[in-house]
Amino acid sequence: MHTIKIISASALDAASRHKIEAFFAAKHPEGAEFVYEINESLIGGFMAVDGDNYYDATFKGQLTRLKKAEAAETVQKLSGAKGIAEQIRKKIYEYKVDYGVACAGLVTFAGDGIVKINGLSGVRYGELLELENGTRAIALNLEENGVGAIILDDESAAAAGDMVRSTGAIVGVPVGECLLGRVVDPLGNPIDDLPGFDVKKMRPIEAPAPQITDRDQVNVPLQTGILAIDSMTPVGRGQRELIIGDRQTGKTAIAVDTILNQKGKGVLCVYVAIGQKASTVSGIVNILKEHGAMAYTAVVCSTAKDSAPLQYIAPYAGCAIAEEFMYAGKDVLIVYDDLSKHAVAYRSMSLLLKRPPGREAYPGDIFYLHSRLLERAAKLSAERGGGSMTALPIVETLAGDISAYIPTNVISITDGQIYLESELFNAGIRPAINVGLSVSRVGGKAQIKAMKKVSGKLRLDLSQYRELAVFAQFGSELDATTQNMLAQGERTTETLKQDQYAPLDIEHQVILLYVTMKEMLKDVQVKDVRRFNTGFSAYLDTNYPAILESIRTARDITMDTGMQIDEAVGKYKTTFK
Ligand code: ATP
Ligand code: MG
Repeated sequence: MHTIKIISASALDAASRHKIEAFFAAKHPEGAEFVYEINESLIGGFMAVDGDNYYDATFKGQLTRLKKAEAAETVQKLSGAKGIAEQIRKKIYEYKVDYGVACAGLVTFAGDGIVKINGLSGVRYGELLELENGTRAIALNLEENGVGAIILDDESAAAAGDMVRSTGAIVGVPVGECLLGRVVDPLGNPIDDLPGFDVKKMRPIEAPAPQITDRDQVNVPLQTGILAIDSMTPVGRGQRELIIGDRQTGKTAIAVDTILNQKGKGVLCVYVAIGQKASTVSGIVNILKEHGAMAYTAVVCSTAKDSAPLQYIAPYAGCAIAEEFMYAGKDVLIVYDDLSKHAVAYRSMSLLLKRPPGREAYPGDIFYLHSRLLERAAKLSAERGGGSMTALPIVETLAGDISAYIPTNVISITDGQIYLESELFNAGIRPAINVGLSVSRVGGKAQIKAMKKVSGKLRLDLSQYRELAVFAQFGSELDATTQNMLAQGERTTETLKQDQYAPLDIEHQVILLYVTMKEMLKDVQVKDVRRFNTGFSAYLDTNYPAILESIRTARDITMDTGMQIDEAVGKYKTTFK
């Protein structure tokens, strides 16, 4: 028996059914079965599918045909000029008439940066919608009888009753070299006082992460220029290393120093500010400018006064900008400052969209929010161009609680974390890195041999020292070995202290650690250690450039170099006061 499917915009009355069934019964004397279906997007009328035959008597179909006929007429008129007619014909056939007609809806509620829309049955998650006045929105809630969307542009521009149409596209941002040196909002509009730029290429803000087969192992170091990090939690190109800590513990400082250190290293940078004070961001941009880092850096900025939807898309926009460089075979560093505020923006949006709240009132897909973002960081294989995107997401904790919801989520996504502590920060140990709780899960492979040699024992020594130091507070009589370990630990801690905006290159890092780890600072007073280190570095620059050169080229520290350093230390000590 033949099955014939009848799809109509609304339920058909008995008379219409009878007519249709009679029509098809005549075509199939062997008997036919009828299946009815309702699809509102057809607007009116019905269509029938009978095996390979397709009968279209819908309004939607009529409108489509009408538009095509109009188009054909226009082409006919213009056909005098040949080349043009051909182009127009091509354009018309590429143009998807269906979108304009089938996927439209009406705004039923607008407020707080979100809109509820009736209709739009064919729209997809994350699709870009356009209101009749040109305001853009992103569809986020796909419900049975409507769509919930967030407004990107001016949120007061939407009102109930507005027509909305889907575009079949995803929000895009301008990408490419023109972004370097610029500060843009999450939609890619420049917000610095420089002239506008030529947009040559756009990229969708959401994109799938590179496939497993497209990836390569992380094995090239990304030098942060911060001794404590490059020695104990080294970061590799393509890695995702979380910077986590309470407020005002120097999280941003580490990210900014890392950007400054990329000067002349062929790494492009993207700094994404999410929900920060405009003054903080402008301070950072000024620092980058002063140190000549804006030349290779793009800043994507959403301030605290921006709407939640804008803050929500900021990291994805920054990621798209970085992705463009990565797929062009370049190395990129991207900083998300910070993802806690991003999660909060997403939470407020979700609550307004009436999504069910989960733990800490975050919606159920909060993990996916950050995993899909951070998965886009990668080291690409040689076949895919060998580019890389290193991500430094920042997360703020409350009272050092790294087991809260967002911190644990992001910790589990990233390849390690640098944990900063208020207590250390206040004790003057800056950067305030807690060595015990900081790790880098790919690190070792991304360290040069020389650094591996000198930093091997560092982590263990430091944690032993911290433990001893706690006991030493109570004890009076300490044996010689313990005293020695304490003295050495104090000096190591001093060596690891570092000022802001003073990244160290890898040669100097290696030498300072070499000197410290070989206990050559024994006769230098603790309070003089930092002065000694800076002085010694400068002394090497002028008197022993060959040592630095040898480490730079060989990436290793040979016996010979070691002996030269010993000699240099001896000589410098005679002049050091
Ligand atoms: P917030 O939570 O406000 O974002 P944060 O954790 O990002 O703060 P920063 O803004 O980077 O912290 O640093 C806080 C303060 O500490 C700043 O005044 C900064 O100048 C200072 N600071 C950070 N790192 C160092 C350092 N290595 N040496 C001296 N001062 C530092
Ligand atoms: Mg900060």
